[in-house]
Amino acid sequence: MLNCSEVTHIASDYLDKNMNWKDSCSMKMHITMCKHCRHFLRHLRLTIDCVHDMENNLTSTEEILHITDNISDRNQT
Ligand SMILES: [Zn+2]
Repeated sequence: MLNCSEVTHIASDYLDKNMNWKDSCSMKMHITMCKHCRHFLRHLRLTIDCVHDMENNLTSTEEILHITDNISDRNQT
């Protein structure tokens, strides 16, 4: 069975489902018995989801140009 240190090293592979069957079973067995690693994986998942949300919500160059154009137009009137 994996120890906690090993779990942290392969946690992102586990969450990405990029792991062979044997390692996945070892991971699940460890997670079942270790609340610290369950919490670690939950927080890692939340962090990954937040980063993806931030990447998807970036303002595009077109939006920035549109906003700056509107500001320029308002300042000229
Ligand atoms: Zn653990």
